[in-house]
Amino acid sequence: MNLTKAEILFNQQINRRYWHMKISIPGWDVQDVKPGQFFHIRTVDHVNPLLRRPFSIYRINEKDNTLEFLYLVKGAGTKKLAERQPNQLLDIFGPVGTSFTITEGSKGILLVARGVGIATLSALAFAAGQKGIPCYAILSARSRDDILVEKELQQAGIRTFVVTDEEKTSDPAFVRGLAEEIILRHSIDAVYTCGSRRLSRLMKELSAQYGLFAEIALEEHMGCAMGACFACVCDVVENDEIRTIRICQDGPVLPLQKVVLN
Ligand SMILES: Cc1cc2nc3c(=O)[nH]c(=O)nc-3n(C[C@H](O)[C@H](O)[C@H](O)COP(=O)(O)OP(=O)(O)OC[C@H]3O[C@@H](n4cnc5c(N)ncnc54)[C@H](O)[C@@H]3O)c2cc1C
Repeated sequence: MNLTKAEILFNQQINRRYWHMKISIPGWDVQDVKPGQFFHIRTVDHVNPLLRRPFSIYRINEKDNTLEFLYLVKGAGTKKLAERQPNQLLDIFGPVGTSFTITEGSKGILLVARGVGIATLSALAFAAGQKGIPCYAILSARSRDDILVEKELQQAGIRTFVVTDEEKTSDPAFVRGLAEEIILRHSIDAVYTCGSRRLSRLMKELSAQYGLFAEIALEEHMGCAMGACFACVCDVVENDEIRTIRICQDGPVLPLQKVVLN
């Protein structure tokens, strides 16, 4: 983990609510960054907002040694981040946290992501694609306009399935049918999820039912991202006992079966 300054290469709006940022970090090798990990970023150079904001890595580009993020403009921090300009320096801390497990020789993996969870799972999808692992992705959002990077995923050979609230296809009952069909038809042996409690609960059920390896990337309010402030806790079950862990230290990627999803 490092505290350093990255150079903003671009920072642009890609649709009504989401932005796309690319950075380079002088003196760094992006090969050290793994899908699922995140950076804790200061959105401004002055004091307000004081706290850093966590963002998952959307894309790790080994060719030009750069990193990309996708983010939803929500509140004070992300509004300020969207104002940052190319060539400015960005104060970043990371990479932080655990990464996804990609099993060599996997027959097929299924990703189930909602909203900006698509950014987090995209890094995994690109990495699996490079290893020649067949990858299928169910992308969920409020509307088609909110579906991120579908074209980029398809260009990387990932088969995508879009479900939306607007089209009334995003409810767990519909997604269950779709996910089961993909699991059975394509010999899926691992599932990964991010961005929705409802869909994570569904994938927890399905991964238990079909005996699949399963991981979740959790997103919670985060303070220091160094394990000191205990802002980002969640409960896990280990040896039949409930234990509280810090997502920044023990996550954000965790075995799905362990996580208590209320
Ligand atoms: C490990 C991790 C990875 C993440 N990766 C991404 C990413 O790739 N792209 C992205 O757009 N967002 C990501 N997030 C969420 C992102 O950090 C928050 O949206 C951001 O901090 C909001 O900051 P803000 O100042 O704009 O909003 P605030 O003014 O702080 O809050 C706006 C709204 O967002 C909620 N919120 C604030 N912080 C979080 C949080 N950490 N998690 C969930 N809800 C929050 C608040 O309750 C409020 O309703 C990630 C969060 C975590 C923990």
